[in-house]
Amino acid sequence: MSIPFPHSTIIGYPRIGPRRELKKALEAYWSGQADRAALEDEARRIRESTYARLTELGLNPHDSSIPASFSLYDQVLDTAVVLGAVPERFADLPDDDGVLDLDAYFTLARGDATRPPLEMTKWFDTNYHYLVPEIGAATPFALSPDSVLREVDEAAEAGYRVRPTLIGPVTFLLLSKADDGTDPAFVPLDRLHDVLPLYRDLLRLLADRGVRWVQFDEPGLVADTEMPEERIEAAVREAYGHLAEGADRPALFVATPYGTLGTRLAGLAATGVDAVHLDLVKGAVPTAAEIGVLRGKTLVAGIVDGHNVWKADLAAASGVLDTLRADDVALSVATSTSLQHVPYDAGIEQALDPLLRSWLSFADQKVQEVAVLARHVAHPGVVDGEIAAAARILAGRRASPGVEVPAVRARTADLTPSDFVRGDYGERRAAQQAALELPVLPTTTIGSFPQTAEIRSARARAARGALTAEQYEAALQDEIRRVVRLQEDLGFDVLVHGEAERNDMVQYFAEHLNGFDVTRHGWVQSYGSRCTRPSLLWGDVSRPAPITVPWTSFAQSLTDRPVKGMLTGPVTILAWSFVRTDQPLADTANQVALALRDEVEDLERAGTRIIQVDEPALRELLPLRRADQAAYLAWSVRAFTLATASAAPATQIHTHLCYSEFGSVLAAIDGLDADVTSLEAARSRMEVVHDLGEHGFGRGVGPGVYDIHSPRVPSVEEIQALLERAVRHVPAEQLWVNPDCGLKTRGYRETEESLRNLVGAARAVRAAVEAPAGLG
Ligand code: GLN
Ligand code: ZN
Repeated sequence: MSIPFPHSTIIGYPRIGPRRELKKALEAYWSGQADRAALEDEARRIRESTYARLTELGLNPHDSSIPASFSLYDQVLDTAVVLGAVPERFADLPDDDGVLDLDAYFTLARGDATRPPLEMTKWFDTNYHYLVPEIGAATPFALSPDSVLREVDEAAEAGYRVRPTLIGPVTFLLLSKADDGTDPAFVPLDRLHDVLPLYRDLLRLLADRGVRWVQFDEPGLVADTEMPEERIEAAVREAYGHLAEGADRPALFVATPYGTLGTRLAGLAATGVDAVHLDLVKGAVPTAAEIGVLRGKTLVAGIVDGHNVWKADLAAASGVLDTLRADDVALSVATSTSLQHVPYDAGIEQALDPLLRSWLSFADQKVQEVAVLARHVAHPGVVDGEIAAAARILAGRRASPGVEVPAVRARTADLTPSDFVRGDYGERRAAQQAALELPVLPTTTIGSFPQTAEIRSARARAARGALTAEQYEAALQDEIRRVVRLQEDLGFDVLVHGEAERNDMVQYFAEHLNGFDVTRHGWVQSYGSRCTRPSLLWGDVSRPAPITVPWTSFAQSLTDRPVKGMLTGPVTILAWSFVRTDQPLADTANQVALALRDEVEDLERAGTRIIQVDEPALRELLPLRRADQAAYLAWSVRAFTLATASAAPATQIHTHLCYSEFGSVLAAIDGLDADVTSLEAARSRMEVVHDLGEHGFGRGVGPGVYDIHSPRVPSVEEIQALLERAVRHVPAEQLWVNPDCGLKTRGYRETEESLRNLVGAARAVRAAVEAPAGLG
């Protein structure tokens, strides 16, 4: 092997900008307020300041340590565009050479008036969403290397030798979906031999530019899929066998974040790849025998957690690194994943308690941790001072007030199996029917109503102190009054208060629970220009006072119809926060669940008869390896039941899930034992009711009939057709009528019209099922 792999590196770095500069530039460009040059200038500025910052933090600017991991929208889309893999409906976008310009790129990502964009889905077990390439048997491929080459040249001019990063061919095809209308036996991986020549041409072009190392991300290799194991092994052999063949290429570095490569390591190592990254945070630490397969290559140890925000235990990490030393296998240090999942810099969180801040490591701090550990590998002993300092901080953290609260510990230790079970469903159903007197096909919404500019501005003014607490409360009460009146006018059976007081369904609870804090600037990209600000769950969780009760009770005081209480479930609170790692996730989940259980009981005491506990993220944390899934589903379902099981039989518990592929989790949904479950279904034309029918799902269910992800207003007839389909698969007595998800991102105009149609359709179908002949 000619050029050694850098001693320290990261797999990727955030790209949205430390002050979300890219978000602002993208949105200005999309709205026509800024031109293309302004967007490209901002993007270049972000890339160059990233390179400068990484150098300052300890990466070598000349030895390929710095990844060129920028993206204007999404890294999977970028690779699709480099390969010219454009679905048929966008066939007019590429120019004669198959090249897509900037607007074409955004059209794939965002769609246009006549064409839906590429589908979006969660990236492994993270809250990042990628765009799903669509590949058919005839999808044309044509190399468009310009964006990659331009970044290399631009970096070189600025004095950096960077490492281009792309999605590797196997993962790219595993993540793609088959184009509609192709033979059902076709899988995108069938096209492997068609994409490999393009990757190979790209390698040649990069070698000509003086690029020494190229990174291929292959996280697809840490997940189980429907694909048979032999097929994956063969694909790895073919792909990296082929790419490594040519002499005129940079060295090949394959990164496998988010899990364990396991038995697939040997196959990958048997090809001519030059360096392999393993995720040692989520994945297993390799044994000596496993390391042995990398003889003559570099093992890149992903030891610094790229997916969470806590300061690394450098003593433990350096100990693990020591076990990886092997003859004839070079050892380098890296992050476990790209740092795109964490905010930029903990140092700027000046509003946080300095003690809590000292426990944090955001992207910039992680680069420094990688550098320290690399120095340990090179010269054991030289960084003992840093290792000891980190150990002191960790020890201080363990002993810090709030981290271990005896009363919280006692409460979870005293739990018994009966705390997790509600009474018999048949009895509950009868008690609820008597208490609620709802018609068949009752109508409701998922919780939030449109968040108007006035609400957001009132919240911002209250946060600044420009509104007093009383003024803010009065503004929210006005809003609740409006929302309740609107729902009564529209004829809804079960009302909501609208969630106007919530900025975010997790952060709102985090702000009201002990054990959490929130950041000011801790934004991470969710997709495109969208960012979220995950809360920090650092200590034992408990609830100092009721959280939602005043809002729900106020709404209930305005109407005779039942108002649903609205809570975010324990699993979703964990999934969308940065969670402590010093105890099992299941224990943390139970603490959150007990805090919610207190809230459920207070809501009941205040007269709330229906309580919804949202779990849109239940599926997101599902482990990537099948063998780990049952244990996860067991504790996550238990946490939900712990939050809800003390409700009286007459109290109706609802839950809401935000997706429609239930196959793998249907049994778990059943295990939640909610009286009513609302699901996403409008986009898939109610396919889920078929699964529910087959599974014999016995409780209430509300498959969404209005797709709130689009501004389109569904007609009465359209909704009616969906409901009629549902009624054929699921008994009408079990069905609820509701939108797909919360309405907070929608405008009032289309929302009102859609909801009016929804109630109209429910009434029509209700009349038909109640008619003596029923629905044919
Ligand atoms: N109750 C929440 C809302 O309506 C649920 C949102 C979600 O499922 N993501 O906004
Ligand atoms: Zn939802």
